[in-house]
Amino acid sequence: MYAAVLRAPGPVENQPLDYIDVPEPVPGPGEVAITVLACGVCRSNLHMVEGDWLPATPAALPIIPGHEVVGRVKAVGPGVENLTVGDRIGVQPIWSTCGVCGHCVSGHEQRCRRRQITGETRDGGYAEVMLANAAFACKIPDSLADTEAAPLFCPGITAYGAVKKALPRPGQNVAVFGIGGVGHLALQMAGLTGAHVNAVSRSLKARTLAEQLGARGAYVPAGIDGGLALRDGSQDAAIVFAPSDHAVAEALRVIKPGGRVVLGVAQSVGVMDIGDEKTVVGTVLGTRQDMADVLNIAVDGKLHAVHEDFPLSEANHVLQRLKTGQLHGRAVLVPGA
Ligand SMILES: [Zn+2]
Ligand SMILES: [Zn+2]
Repeated sequence: MYAAVLRAPGPVENQPLDYIDVPEPVPGPGEVAITVLACGVCRSNLHMVEGDWLPATPAALPIIPGHEVVGRVKAVGPGVENLTVGDRIGVQPIWSTCGVCGHCVSGHEQRCRRRQITGETRDGGYAEVMLANAAFACKIPDSLADTEAAPLFCPGITAYGAVKKALPRPGQNVAVFGIGGVGHLALQMAGLTGAHVNAVSRSLKARTLAEQLGARGAYVPAGIDGGLALRDGSQDAAIVFAPSDHAVAEALRVIKPGGRVVLGVAQSVGVMDIGDEKTVVGTVLGTRQDMADVLNIAVDGKLHAVHEDFPLSEANHVLQRLKTGQLHGRAVLVPGA
C-alpha cells in the first residue's frame, strides 16, 4: 500500500514525508484494517512533522501521521464483534485508552494518561490502509460523505468539547475567537444551544464565513483595524481557537464577571484579576459518546464542515499550504484521488 511516511521531522519545505510503498498492516486482536477513504490534515500533524509538537511525539519513527480518518473495514482481527467487513467507520485522535483508570471510568477518557494517539503513537491515516481499534471506531451514517465526515473526528469533537465547557444557555452571548478549522464548527455548535454567537477574527474572509454560518456578529480584536471590537464584559463565555496570546487577554476582557474562557489551543494566560471570579478552562478532544453526539448533529444537517480535498500523494504540498495560510477550510487527503 502507499502511505506518506515520516522518517525524520523537518521543515515541510524540505518534503519530510516520503510517499512510498510499504507493507499493508494486519489487524491484531481487537483491531480492524480499514481502506482509508479520507483523512483530514490537522495543524498538530504539521507540528509533529516539523518536530515542534509535544515531547516524545511521535513515539517512534518512522510513523504515518493523520488522526481524522474515515475508512471502510477490509479485515477484522480476532475477537472483534462490533464491526464487520464493509462497515464505514471513523477514527479520532484517541486511538485507545486504558479503560480502567480514574479518568476512563469517570466519563473523561480523553484525559487517560495511557491513551494511544492515532498518527503519533500508532500509525495514522495518511495511508491507503490503516489499523483501527474496534472499540474506539465509530460507524458513520450513510448520509455523510467521506470528506465531510473526516474533519468531524478531530475539529468536530474538539469544537463540541469546547462548547460543552463554555456552558452556554439560550439567549446568552458566546464569543468564538479564531474562525478556522475548529472555530467554524464551534460557532455552529454554540448556535445550536440557543446562544447568540459572536465571531472574532482578524481575517475578513473568516468573519464573512462566520456570518454565513450563523454568527450574530463578527468582530475584530481590540486595536485591530477593519471592524468593531466586542465591548468589555459583554459576553457570558468565550471560546478561543485563535493561536495568539493576545486572544486570551481579549477573551478575558470581553466576558462578564463570573464568565468562562475555554482554551482550545495552548496559550499563556497571564495575570488574572481574581475579583471578577472568571474561569479559564482547557479542553481537549472528547469521549466516544461525544463523538457519537457530533455525528448525530451532523447527520441532521446542522453542521457544515468546510473542506478542500487533495490526493494523498500531495501530503507534503498540503502541509506547506497549511503552514503558509493558503487553505480554505480543512484540507482532506483522499487516497487514490
Ligand atoms: Zn487534530
Ligand atoms: Zn485510562
